[in-house]
Amino acid sequence: MPSTGRTKGKCLRCGHYGELKARSLHESCYAAARHAGELDRYPLTRPGVDLAEADRLEQEGLATDAIARRQGVSPGAIRTARHRRKHTA
Ligand SMILES: [Zn+2]
Repeated sequence: MPSTGRTKGKCLRCGHYGELKARSLHESCYAAARHAGELDRYPLTRPGVDLAEADRLEQEGLATDAIARRQGVSPGAIRTARHRRKHTA
């Protein structure tokens, strides 16, 4: 997937244009946001867990590990996303 490389754009934290690390933030802004516990304020831009798809695959009998491999994420990422959904729904 070509979208996994570094992208350029406007940083959501400081508003300056530059190379973004993740969540539309500069590397330094990402680190600052993480340090401040504010990462959840910024949207995930990395290829992530598609929970609807994960649920569908699970109904087909796939294990979490297999679903994770299909989505190019770690099994832990799927568990985290499910956990987060339960607490934010
Ligand atoms: Zn920034």
